[in-house]
Amino acid sequence: MKKLLFSTLSLFLLVFMLPMVSSADEPIPLYLNGERLEPEVPPRLVQDTTMVPVRIIAEALGADVEWNQDEQQVTITVDQTKIWLWIGKLDAVVNASSYKLDQVPPMNDAGNTLVPVRFVAENLGLMVKWDNENRAVHMISEQPEPEQPVTEPDQPESPSEEHPAEPGMEPGAPQVPGGTPAPDPIENPGEEVQLPRIESIQLNNEQLVIQGTDELRANHFSLVNPHRIVIDLPNTVLGEQMAANMVNNTGELYVDHPMIEKIRYSLYSDKPYTVRVVIDLNSKASYKLVDQNEWNQVVMNFQPFIYNVVIDPGHGAKDPGAGSVVGKTEKEFNLSMSLKVKQLLDAEPLIQPLLTRNDDTFLELDERAAFANSQNADVFVSIHGNSFRPETRGTETFYYKADSRELADIVHKHVLEATGFPDRGVKKSRFRVITVTSMPATLLEIGFLSNEIEAPQMFEEEFQQRVAEAIVNGIKEYLGV
Ligand SMILES: [Zn+2]
Repeated sequence: MKKLLFSTLSLFLLVFMLPMVSSADEPIPLYLNGERLEPEVPPRLVQDTTMVPVRIIAEALGADVEWNQDEQQVTITVDQTKIWLWIGKLDAVVNASSYKLDQVPPMNDAGNTLVPVRFVAENLGLMVKWDNENRAVHMISEQPEPEQPVTEPDQPESPSEEHPAEPGMEPGAPQVPGGTPAPDPIENPGEEVQLPRIESIQLNNEQLVIQGTDELRANHFSLVNPHRIVIDLPNTVLGEQMAANMVNNTGELYVDHPMIEKIRYSLYSDKPYTVRVVIDLNSKASYKLVDQNEWNQVVMNFQPFIYNVVIDPGHGAKDPGAGSVVGKTEKEFNLSMSLKVKQLLDAEPLIQPLLTRNDDTFLELDERAAFANSQNADVFVSIHGNSFRPETRGTETFYYKADSRELADIVHKHVLEATGFPDRGVKKSRFRVITVTSMPATLLEIGFLSNEIEAPQMFEEEFQQRVAEAIVNGIKEYLGV
């Protein structure tokens, strides 16, 4: 019955809203304090959420925007407020608090990151108004006129209303450069505050156990460079012993663990009192909060993060690729190289290598990309041999998406050194397999099969092994493993 009522209501709303809801790509004018902003990519409505390029927010508000392509993460910083968003994910973090976006995650569009304007702007202290008559979005940094009539199709979560007591939302909350404990010392309030106390933090094998005197709630997020996990425990203070063990308002626990370097804790905020635990990792880890058996514990499980690396030997079967001056074809070179790379990666504990083909099979370009996308690959490397005029020589590496440039640069550096061929550089090109893959992707042209100096070497075992090692070293350097 409840469900029926809900459906009827939804249907009513849908019908009612239909004339207002536009096609997904309708450009939406964006104003800041009445002044029209001119972003490179126009803001647009996606499922009733106005998405705007993050760059225009940065320019208009003087925000710092950092892009972490490893994590597909954008960080927006203005004064005391830091917002973390991830492409394709509904998770968001504002200072110390985790949120779920309503329905539309940040997205990439031709190198521009689009973010939900309401979520970002409101968290940066702006009012966001939808002008239905002109179908425009207004961001207002001053007090708005109260009589201004406003209808809003744009309804992402409004954290300032739903979480009035979250830490870090108030102006003046301590800043967290890179998630380290707050620089401004906050005295543990001792007996004067009746809040749950954090009594101990212990690491047992893969489990971190935070023990409190009363019910605990935890927000968590991860940061990179270096890899670390932050756990915030709002409405808690430190127990007496934990507080006593701190030096300069930070406690450190050294642990004997292959993935964890150390664990730090501090009383990070006093509005409200929040204990922050930072786990410094040696490498990226997957982690999750475990359902609490004990109401006064927070338990987190750790596992090493395994990177999926897709190696794509170009061409195959009916598509031989380029011919060579030594008679063999490009598809053979590509497969032989790729199998060597796969074998080397098999020995890497933090990397799961996957081949798009491991024999003389034909695959469409889109099948190769679709395979990588379906495997949630972290890296895609397509291996090829080049062909042009007989005298043309050298190693060149291609990327297309902005998030692939670093991968291409690093792998190219290693491969070039291994081939010893002339440097043709790292170039942007719209090869299909590196355009439609959703992860950082690069296409390597190791050398010229049409050249009499390069082709014979390229079919030598020793050359191939050396270049395979270089590719692996490049991938490892890129992933930081
Ligand atoms: Zn090729």
